[in-house]
Amino acid sequence: MEVKFVDLGRQYETLREEILDAVDRISRKGAYVLGEELEAFEKEIAAYCNCKYAIGLGSGSDALILPLRCLDIGPGDEVITAPNSFIATAWTIAHTGARIVFADVDESMNLEPRAVETALTPRTRAIMPVHLTGRIANVERLHEIAVENDALLVEDAAQAIGAKRNSQSIGTYGRFAGVSLHPLKILHVQGDGGICLTNDESLKERLLKMRNHGLADRDTCTFWGVNSRLDEIQAAIGRIKLKHLDNWIARIRRIAAYYRSELSEHVSVPSEYDDEMPVYHRFMIRTSQRDALQRHLAQKGVGAAVNYPSPLHLQPAARSLGYKEGDFPQTERLAKTILSLPLYPEITDDEANYVVTSVNSFFR
Ligand SMILES: *Cc1c(COP(=O)(O)O)cnc(C)c1O
Repeated sequence: MEVKFVDLGRQYETLREEILDAVDRISRKGAYVLGEELEAFEKEIAAYCNCKYAIGLGSGSDALILPLRCLDIGPGDEVITAPNSFIATAWTIAHTGARIVFADVDESMNLEPRAVETALTPRTRAIMPVHLTGRIANVERLHEIAVENDALLVEDAAQAIGAKRNSQSIGTYGRFAGVSLHPLKILHVQGDGGICLTNDESLKERLLKMRNHGLADRDTCTFWGVNSRLDEIQAAIGRIKLKHLDNWIARIRRIAAYYRSELSEHVSVPSEYDDEMPVYHRFMIRTSQRDALQRHLAQKGVGAAVNYPSPLHLQPAARSLGYKEGDFPQTERLAKTILSLPLYPEITDDEANYVVTSVNSFFR
C-alpha cells in the first residue's frame, strides 16, 4: 500500500464536473477579474466564519502583508510573532518595513503569552499569533496583552479556516486574520489565493482599494496600491469547495481522533481541549527518533513531512535580527522532534489503518 502525504487529484476527481462547468461558464462570459463570483465567495466566506467582511486577494501572504500596510504598520514598528512557522509569516512583516520580533511557543506549538509579554517594547504595534496546524492560539490572553499595550492583535490564520474555540471562528479575535487558499491548505483553489477576514469597515474599504491599484474609481488613484485580486475562476472553485468544507473537516477530525487513540503509546500526539475545535491542517506527532521513523515510513510507502525543520529565527534571511541558537528552546526542540502524517479528507479507513500500523511497527 502507498499513502501519499498529499494527493490533490482525489479531491479534483470528486468535483471535476462542477469545476469544469464553472470554468466554462466564466470563460463564455469573459469576465475574469472582480466580478460576481468573487463577490459571492466573499459573502459566503464571511458568513461561514461569522465575521463581517472577507476580502479575496492573490495569496495568503498578501492577506497578511496588505492589511498590515493598510493599518500603517511599517518602519519603526515591531510585530511579535512565532518562530515556528512558514517563511511567509516572517517576510510579510519584514516587507512592511517593521521589525520582526520572535517569541517562543508553548506545548500547543503556538505563541506563549508570557514570552510575548517579555518581547514587548514601546515600539510593539502588533502581536501576530499563527494558528499552527489549525490549532487556535491563546488569542483571548494575547488580545488582552495587545489592548494593555496599545497594540493590535492580528492573526496568521493561513492554516486554520474552520477552526473554532467556544464556537468562535478565527477572524473575529483580532483586527484581521489572513487565510491562505494555497493548494496545500484545507480549503484551497487551483493556484494561489487568499482571504483577509475582518470586522473593521475602514480596513475593508482601504484593502479593497489597495488590492486594485489604489483606485477609488476607474480613473482616480488615492494612494499607490498593488494588484492582488482573487480571480473569478478561483473564486468559483472556492465556492464549490466551501460547500464541502464542514464535511471535510469532520472527516479529518475523525481520522485525527483515530490517530490520536492508536498512536499515543509510542509518540506524543496533539492534545485537544474541550473548548477547542482544531482543523488539523497537519497532524503532527513528536518523537525523539523522528528521522529514523520518517525513513521507516518512507520504506513502507507512507509519506511524512517536517513542518518546519528550520525555525525562522535561524534562517539565513533572519541573520540581521541577531538571534542565535538557544534563544527559543521550545521551538528548537519541536523542530527536531515533529513529524506530520498524511491527513486529508480523502484518506480511506484502510489507509489510515495502514499509517497507524506503519508507525507502530517501527517501535515494536
Ligand atoms: C501557507 C501559509 C502562508 C502563506 O500563504 P500563501 O497562500 O502560500 O501565500 C502564511 N502563513 C502560514 C502559517 C502558512 O502556512
